[in-house]
Amino acid sequence: MQRFLIKDTAKHIGEKVRVCGWVNTRRAHGKILFIDLRDISGILQVVFVPSNKEVYDMAQTLRAEWVVEIIGQIVKRPENMVNPKIETGKVELSVESLKVLSESETLPLSIEGDGYDIGEETRMKYRYLDLRRERMKNNLIVRHKVIKFIRDFLDKEGFAEIETPILTKSTPEGARDYIVPSRQEPGKFYALPQSPQQYKQLLMVAGLEKYFQMAKCLRDEDPRGDRQPEFTQLDLEASFVSQEDVMDLTERLLILIVQNLFPNKKIQEIPFPRISYKDAMKKYNSDKPDIRKDKNDKNLLAFCWVIDFPFFEKTEEGGWTFTHNPFSAAKPEFDEDLLNKKNIENILTSQYDVALNGFEIGGGSIRNHRPEALEKVFEIMGYKKEVIHEKFGHMMEAFKYGAPPHGGIAWGIDRVFALLFEEPNIREVMAFPKTGDGRDLMMKAPSEVDKKQLKELHISITKEKKKK
Ligand code: ASP
Repeated sequence: MQRFLIKDTAKHIGEKVRVCGWVNTRRAHGKILFIDLRDISGILQVVFVPSNKEVYDMAQTLRAEWVVEIIGQIVKRPENMVNPKIETGKVELSVESLKVLSESETLPLSIEGDGYDIGEETRMKYRYLDLRRERMKNNLIVRHKVIKFIRDFLDKEGFAEIETPILTKSTPEGARDYIVPSRQEPGKFYALPQSPQQYKQLLMVAGLEKYFQMAKCLRDEDPRGDRQPEFTQLDLEASFVSQEDVMDLTERLLILIVQNLFPNKKIQEIPFPRISYKDAMKKYNSDKPDIRKDKNDKNLLAFCWVIDFPFFEKTEEGGWTFTHNPFSAAKPEFDEDLLNKKNIENILTSQYDVALNGFEIGGGSIRNHRPEALEKVFEIMGYKKEVIHEKFGHMMEAFKYGAPPHGGIAWGIDRVFALLFEEPNIREVMAFPKTGDGRDLMMKAPSEVDKKQLKELHISITKEKKKK
């Protein structure tokens, strides 16, 4: 017999159906026993009467979160029992047979309510139970819907989703790399990607022209604010585009997401206002300003662009480093300065960041597709020729073979979701996040590994003495 999803049962009054799910609650009304059965689609009231003795006796043993299969008839509820709040509120299931598929111990945390008041350690350790909570389940499903919307939109715009490697070489993007030892080449390491930046540019050299990816990015940063060691970017890149083209595409997509999937939200200003980095710092003392006119309105979305960032900033040691992305092009009027390595502090980059209600949700730039200009960037940063060759030789070389002008952007989509779902942090919109200090309390990672594994990798651990 085919399984019915609970939400569909209301349309089948008088019919015999088979449903499966979890016992949400159990209660007795005199001799009649009720359970609320829960599946992914909703909740159904199930009724057991003493006349069906065998089933009734078994139903008495049911406890919350047991998994059951029930066959019965969908009947109309008495008028006074109708619950207008749920899709199946007008019906109930009159049970014929009951099968227990799995029993459950008492849960270590409550899955009712929003769960914000439960300690994070418990929620993380039992994440698979925490996700049974309506709010969390809904977050993941809506997240899926937004991602699908993005994929469909970009597909129509002619973009192809292309996967790039997770085992790669260190990318200089300002954070520390996670490294993975090579077994085949002792003493050598892969790096996990901080972003697909170099690959996506190489795809442009390859002539793919329009690339995107829901890309996992890994950055070994110290715990600070609401960060995660791994997070997801909507990463995209296109050839023969201007700054305007990328900004226009981003803006159209963000507006469509809000209008189609969050119609109760209001965008403060369209087109999104643009602020130069200098003005943003002067006026808001932030490069991701919160320009909301009414900060109490939870449905107000104030997007804005921040542009005209300085390309370089001084390091603590007195040298230069990039503010955003070493692969960016200077704004055209600063091209000569970059090539001559002059006026460095005033060179502006083609970088554009998009902010929402005071959070940076994305950033990108038009890239430097000429090897000589890219080389100058690294020279300004004080890299020796050999180092440039060693670290970025593949980019320099690729750009020698007819590299199209190109540019792109990446959105931190976990942050976008947190803001759209009105969640206080990005952990609430991820299935299996880590703690602020990078631990997975459910899997107990990071963990020690076998001596044999270490030996194969030619690695020995020198344990730091524990401080007394
Ligand atoms: N790769 C950049 C980042 O992760 C985004 C971009 O410029 O496309 O910030």
